[in-house]
Amino acid sequence: MSIVFKDVSKTYLHKGKEINALRLTNLTINAGEIFGLIGFSGAGKSTLLRLINLLEAPSSGTIHVGDDEVTALNQKDLRVKRQKIGMIFQQFNLIESKTVADNIAFVLRAAKYPKAEIDGRIDELLELVGLSEKKTVFPKNLSGGQKQRVGIARALANNPDVLLSDEATSALDPETTKTILNLLKRINKELGITIVVITHEMEVIKELAERVGVMSNGEIIEMDDVYKIFSEP
Ligand code: ADP
Ligand code: ADP
Repeated sequence: MSIVFKDVSKTYLHKGKEINALRLTNLTINAGEIFGLIGFSGAGKSTLLRLINLLEAPSSGTIHVGDDEVTALNQKDLRVKRQKIGMIFQQFNLIESKTVADNIAFVLRAAKYPKAEIDGRIDELLELVGLSEKKTVFPKNLSGGQKQRVGIARALANNPDVLLSDEATSALDPETTKTILNLLKRINKELGITIVVITHEMEVIKELAERVGVMSNGEIIEMDDVYKIFSEP
């Protein structure tokens, strides 16, 4: 599913002062691609991600996710649309008091997934991420890589069209990072899910992204195929 920003800006009011966090005249993330965003802290990467996952609205401009102009949806339609956008996080954001299965069941129930099919769906998701034998385990008994696999399974539970990754491998060692990146690539290929990745790890972008946007000061100052971004000028 493609994501299109037109004349978007995002301004925060902070202690009586306006902070212009994002200005995007034109940005198209193509359906089915892995798009990476890099830039220093404060460049606007998280703001851009929060506009795609519909947690925030832009101050001006329009955003399309697939066929929907999400900037024109009402609250009810926004809630439904949000379920089609999965997200994974640096700190995994699992509920520690729930088992692996219940962490996933939780989002399926919230989306009114048919009750009788929830258990089967959890099995399917855990098989996809290679964690079938951890179904009844609590997060504290999982390694970091296993926790992120649960995070990915949960993000995919409602068959999203888009998967957003916010520093998802930044808490993992290089070896584990590699296995998570391979899993994300497989998900992109096999399920056709559009993936948007933000990270400060250049190796991750080089390994995973097909196209890259470089952000600075609320704008995308350069955008190209990954090998061109990282080739000498
Ligand atoms: P005040 O109390 O004067 O309103 P705060 O620093 O508590 O200012 O910020 C208000 C809210 O705005 C906080 O909830 C915080 O999460 C958010 N916020 C403020 N500045 C930033 C920032 N630079 N980055 C992210 N969030 C911010
Ligand atoms: P990045 O993810 O690249 O580090 P952000 O999108 O978090 O950048 O921040 C972009 C700019 O917007 C920064 O100047 C930041 O301080 C500001 N900002 C982000 N969120 C808030 C907020 N909730 N309130 C006020 N300012 C914010």
